Amino acid sequence: MRAAPGKEDVRRHNLGTVLRYVHVHGATSRAELTTRLGLNRSTIGALTADLTAAGLVFERTQRDTGRAGRPSLVVRPRSATVYAYALSIEVDRLRAARVGLGGRILDRREVPRPPGMAVPEAAGPLAAFVREMAGDVPDDGRFVGTGVAVVGRSRAADGTAVLVPRQHLEDLAAGDLGVPGRLSVGNHAEVSALAEHSRGAAAGCDNVLYLYGDIGVGAGIIADGRRTLGRGGEVGHVVVNPYGRQCPCGSRGCWETEIGERALLQHAGRSGAAGREAVLGVVKAAMFGDARAQSAIREVGGWIGFGVGNLANIVNPEAVIFGGTLRDVYLAAAAHIRSRMNAVALPACREQVRLRTPGLGEDAALIGAAELAFERLLGDPLVS
Ligand SMILES: [Zn+2]
Repeated sequence: MRAAPGKEDVRRHNLGTVLRYVHVHGATSRAELTTRLGLNRSTIGALTADLTAAGLVFERTQRDTGRAGRPSLVVRPRSATVYAYALSIEVDRLRAARVGLGGRILDRREVPRPPGMAVPEAAGPLAAFVREMAGDVPDDGRFVGTGVAVVGRSRAADGTAVLVPRQHLEDLAAGDLGVPGRLSVGNHAEVSALAEHSRGAAAGCDNVLYLYGDIGVGAGIIADGRRTLGRGGEVGHVVVNPYGRQCPCGSRGCWETEIGERALLQHAGRSGAAGREAVLGVVKAAMFGDARAQSAIREVGGWIGFGVGNLANIVNPEAVIFGGTLRDVYLAAAAHIRSRMNAVALPACREQVRLRTPGLGEDAALIGAAELAFERLLGDPLVS
C-alpha cells in the first residue's frame, strides 16, 4: 500500500506547478498565480521564494499598474541562465540551439545535411555546435539536459526518400551523440506538436494534429492535452491511393507519396528538383498564374484535405497545423484543402476544426526538443 503524499511531496508538486506555469506563460504576477493555480497567497509567496532561492525564477515589483494598493510581485523564469540544448535532425539540415527556461532561444546554429548522410553521422556536427555554444554560457548558467528531435525519413544519396532505421533512433536514445548530460529523443513532428500546443498556434487546444511536410510527412498528435507516445509520426504511411506511387516503406499510395515534396514537383513538371526551395518555387509560380503549378497545388491540396478529413474523424482535433513545406502548400490551397476535408470529415469533426499555420514557425522543433529536456526539472524543480 502506498503512503499518502506527505507535506514535502505536496510542496514539490506545487513547486513544479508554479514553475511550469511561468515556463509556459512567461512573466506572471503572484496575484495571477494565486487565481490560476487555486493556491492561497501565502503558499504562492513561499513557493516563489523557494524557486527564487533555487535560481529558477526571479521576482520584480510590477510598476505602473494604474491600480491603488500594494503592487503584486511579478515572477519570471530565469531564461538567461537555466537552459537546455535542443538538437534537430531534419531531412535537409541539422540544427542546434541553446534554449532558456521559458522557451526562449538564446543561441542557434544550422548546417545543411547532405543527401546520404545517415543519422549517426549527424552526431559529429551537432556535438561541435554544442561545444561552440557552451563557450558563451554565463558563469552562473545551469544546464538541464539535451533534447533531440529526429525526422523519421531522410534523403538518400540519389535524392529519394528512405526511412530512418529504428536502430539509429535507439542508438540516439541510448545517448550516443557525444553531447553532455541526459539525452531525451523525440519524433520531430511530435515534439513540434508539443511546442505548438504549449505556446504556439494550438495553445489552449486539447486535441491537436500537427503535420510537417518535407520529403515525406510527419505527424504529431496531442490527445486530451497529452502528446501521444509512440507512432503518431507514421500517419504519412496511411494508404490513401491503392493505385498510387511506390513508397519507401514498401507499400503503395501512402499519404506521403501523394502530398510530399516529390508528388508536388512531379505534378508541376519539375521532377529533377528537390527540397524546400523547389516547393516554394511551385507555390510562387502558381501565384503568378502558371497553370501547371496551379494544377499541381490543387492535386496535392486535394490529397491533403482527403487525409486531414480522415484523420479528423479519428482524432477530432480543434486545430490542424501545417508545418514545413505543407505550410506553403496550405497557404496556396487553403480553400481547396478545406472543401475536400469537409467532404470527408463527419460534421461533428469538421465543424470545430481550425486549420492553421505554425505560431512558432520552424522554431517549433527546437523549442519542442528543449521541452523534452526541461520535463524532468518541471516535474520536480528541486531535482539535482
Ligand atoms: Zn509508406
